[in-house]
Amino acid sequence: MKIPYKIFLPILALLLLSCSGGGAGRSSGAGSGSGKNAPGYDPKTKTYKMKARKIGPDIYAVLSPARDLPNPKNGGWNSNSAFVITKDGVLLFDSGSSQKIGATLKQTIATVTDKPVRWIVNSHAHGDHWLGNAAFKKTVKDIYASEQVAESIFADGQTWIDRFRRMTKGAIGKSEIMAPEKTITKRTEVVLGGRKFVLFPSGNSHSRGDILLWMPEERALFTGDVVYSTRMPSTFASNLDRWIVMLGELERLKPRVVVPGHGDLTDATSITRMREMFTILWRETRKHQKNGLSPEKTLPLVRQAVLKFKPHYPGFEDKLKRDMARVHAQAEIANKRK
Ligand SMILES: [Zn+2]
Repeated sequence: MKIPYKIFLPILALLLLSCSGGGAGRSSGAGSGSGKNAPGYDPKTKTYKMKARKIGPDIYAVLSPARDLPNPKNGGWNSNSAFVITKDGVLLFDSGSSQKIGATLKQTIATVTDKPVRWIVNSHAHGDHWLGNAAFKKTVKDIYASEQVAESIFADGQTWIDRFRRMTKGAIGKSEIMAPEKTITKRTEVVLGGRKFVLFPSGNSHSRGDILLWMPEERALFTGDVVYSTRMPSTFASNLDRWIVMLGELERLKPRVVVPGHGDLTDATSITRMREMFTILWRETRKHQKNGLSPEKTLPLVRQAVLKFKPHYPGFEDKLKRDMARVHAQAEIANKRK
């Protein structure tokens, strides 16, 4: 679906609120973790604690405990990464919100392998998924992303750095922009260091140019923000009707393990839950829009219809409210089409 210019500007404005909020002002306190060795950020020492969690043969996830936007408490580390060790080096999927976070990721990878990171995949252009790239500049050979994401990083990279510096009151430090150069436009199979990876576009479902990574032999799926588990998904830059179709396709892959962009490690359960919630959200928004209700009048009705999902999703109320204008605008276009 093409986004008409008229609604593109408000989307840009919303982008300034970052890609992935658990809701503005929400503070879960999870950013600092619980217990001395729990992953998280320590504002006193200004350091991050990360853990490489084994999820398959030489496959690891590095999961952020934060369920909110980058802020001083979580030091900006609020998104997940994953990595795979091959015979020729490591492939890293998403590199975090800053070069400093990327550097901690690098140390975390070094706790399980001596091999350097040779390849990075950036799932999408929101700053919490690629700003860490430059921490790997000495060893990385190729950075993969879609064409749209590479373009967007060239165009808006500095805006993301400035935004996260503001939001974290400087905690993310300085980051150099290292944009992807290996761009893909369609489903692409690559063999790197003897391991098979499938990169495929989401059809702009969560944001323009998202890609996912699938390891068919191990049935491991790295989704970026196309899948959220224990955090309310952001729909402000989405194409919701296309996203629902995409989630159905992901369910059919029958993944054994799913590393979502935000939230706990999961499996197909989280994909099914998101698809079910979005299906209701989309159907109800279209219905009320068709009946002439404004986004403000639509919000409480839609909220009621999807309320049963709230216990699964921190940030439910804030994000639903924040993103309603976008979903309503999409519903208006879809209703005009038919
Ligand atoms: Zn994100």
